[in-house]
Amino acid sequence: MTRTLRTAALSFAVMATALPALADVNIYSYRQPELIQPILDAFTAETGIKTNVSFIDKGLVERLQAEGDRSPADLILTVDISRLAEAVAGGVTQPVESEVLTANIPAEFRDPDNQWFGVTTRARIVYASKDRVDPADVTSYEDLADPKWQGRICTRSGAHGYTLALVAAMIKHHGEDYTKTWLEGVKANLARKPQGNDRAQVKAIWAGECDISLGNTYYMGQMVADPEQKAWADAVNVLFPVFEGAGTHMNVSGVALTKAAPNRDEAVKLMEFLTSQEAQEIYAEINHEYPVVPGTEASELVQSWGECAPDTVNLMELAPLRADALRLVETVDFDG
Ligand code: FE
Repeated sequence: MTRTLRTAALSFAVMATALPALADVNIYSYRQPELIQPILDAFTAETGIKTNVSFIDKGLVERLQAEGDRSPADLILTVDISRLAEAVAGGVTQPVESEVLTANIPAEFRDPDNQWFGVTTRARIVYASKDRVDPADVTSYEDLADPKWQGRICTRSGAHGYTLALVAAMIKHHGEDYTKTWLEGVKANLARKPQGNDRAQVKAIWAGECDISLGNTYYMGQMVADPEQKAWADAVNVLFPVFEGAGTHMNVSGVALTKAAPNRDEAVKLMEFLTSQEAQEIYAEINHEYPVVPGTEASELVQSWGECAPDTVNLMELAPLRADALRLVETVDFDG
């Protein structure tokens, strides 16, 4: 027997006796499978732990509640603070004490009680026509209610989670009365009723229907990579408005350990892997999101848009304001 073979045989024997079989990690995901699969593949290559993803469109929390202790799910992957907060409120998560996670993730992007952890961030920014908008004219979110934008703004529904998070942040910074007036001002500036997704607004700018829109940063990366949508992307600048005296509104994609997680150890390993340099770089390159771990660089494309100075309000402070945000959106009939 050669030395290599003997060593291999020996390690195999040691592994077989000393280690229990590695269980798969089962994931319930609101995120598109193609966005996370490359990272899961890297995890499997490094650890030998396999993963199974169930993509869930709606009712993830209700499903976990219905499954109870028999749930096969170990992890929840989702975007948006409201969905993470909803999972915690629904009692389907459990805290994770991990030095790796708390060291890697800045405090404003994880739950103070360790029930969920942000793994990427995205900024809610302004897409502005290159032809019709001087970038210097886009300054703050507050300024979007200024009559100078009359008939020039496109946006998706006020009831969408991305809009509600932004409105919740406005409430956090300025209170409800100000926010109601602000929403009325923005509504008065709309070029058309709220409709479509973030990219549909950029298409509308390209088509000349409006001059600026609100959208998440990573959609620019998706449009650039899409032959049909490249022209829309080329028609706009990515600009970073701020809350006056603060920064640009951020949201997260995040992960949480389920309450019933049958394969807890492997699942925590995966959670920690998501904050590794390797995983953070894959997120940055493939999804054009901002890595959450300081020191990991955004993709070249994302960096080309310029500096983002994030608002440092803890996202958990926004989650409870979501219901107030929705009430205000309905009160001013934002979508009507
Ligand atoms: Fe999105």
